[in-house]
Amino acid sequence: MSHEQLSPASRVVALGRQPRVPGAGVNAPLEFSSTYIADGPVNYARVGNPTWTAFEEALGALEGGDALVFASGMAAVSAAISLVPHGGAVVVPHHAYNGTTALLDQLAGTGAAQVRRVDPTDQAAVRTALDGAAMLWLESPTNPMLEVSDVRALSAMAREAGAITVCDNTFATPLVQRPLEDGVDVVLHSVTKYLSGHSDVILGALVTAATEAGDGLRARLSTARTLGGAIAGPMETWLALRGLRTLHVRLERATANARELAGRLDGHPGVETARYPGFGAIIAIEVPGGADGAERVAAATDLWMHATSLGGVESQIERRRRHPAEPQTVPENLLRLSVGIEDVEDLWHDLDRALRA
Ligand SMILES: *Cc1c(COP(=O)(O)O)cnc(C)c1O
Repeated sequence: MSHEQLSPASRVVALGRQPRVPGAGVNAPLEFSSTYIADGPVNYARVGNPTWTAFEEALGALEGGDALVFASGMAAVSAAISLVPHGGAVVVPHHAYNGTTALLDQLAGTGAAQVRRVDPTDQAAVRTALDGAAMLWLESPTNPMLEVSDVRALSAMAREAGAITVCDNTFATPLVQRPLEDGVDVVLHSVTKYLSGHSDVILGALVTAATEAGDGLRARLSTARTLGGAIAGPMETWLALRGLRTLHVRLERATANARELAGRLDGHPGVETARYPGFGAIIAIEVPGGADGAERVAAATDLWMHATSLGGVESQIERRRRHPAEPQTVPENLLRLSVGIEDVEDLWHDLDRALRA
């Protein structure tokens, strides 16, 4: 049975294993070697190693392309942006991940890039902004406003305009959307989040299509990794692959929890607005009492971790505007909830109590 015939639930478990020969370990090797005996497929570990290969094979198959692992999501962001020629324009959603927008602002400050911010749900505005642009940056849903854009329509517009499309797929994961199939050129992951899933690893990845154009981009990104030197550690990569094995069950449970909680939060007396895109496990709520009110809710939870990440097995809550880099258009009283895999009634009890406190 070829892996292409398997469903994603089986793929996350089966891919990136050792060849089936007697005595081989069932898991990918965790290799701590900086260099290799000459004349093999890899000669130096900044260029590649067997632990990366196993993870890249698994993620590449899930996204339907070829993956490259990076030291962090931001290392992957930097490598992707390096595809923009000097002074080229990048069209980016207002509410993209704040590290991405901060990096673009820094490049704009030195004239290395131009930045055009858009509402990705306004297709006419995106079309106008794409005129002469080198890159369209997508994130769907956006962090933390949860705007969902039409990835297929927007990447087609970018192609027409001669721009490369990058899609940050961290929130959705390949189990929800596969942007390469929608015409995106480069898919990005902060592997730190859902793919590894246990809040114990910082890692990133880029995935390109298995086409001639995709291979060309992959070669440039691989060179950016080798020469930029922002490479993943084998230990982190191995842990991420271990985490990936349970992606399907974690996401299924977290999504079921998020659906249930989103329904209960909508109309709760301690909640002004609740946003949930209808898939995935991130919810954004606005609470009464402004920034202080939101901080009090986050501090009053017990089971929910008051922490800044997302995508782990443990539920997390945070007021996003506590970070100065967060766009001013994100409401001061917005709390981002990353729903984990705990018992939904325990999560509700803790959150409901904090919202009423
Ligand atoms: C966290 C995050 C990043 C950055 O990833 P790191 O692994 O923290 O470097 C990029 N994009 C999104 C959507 C994220 O949530």
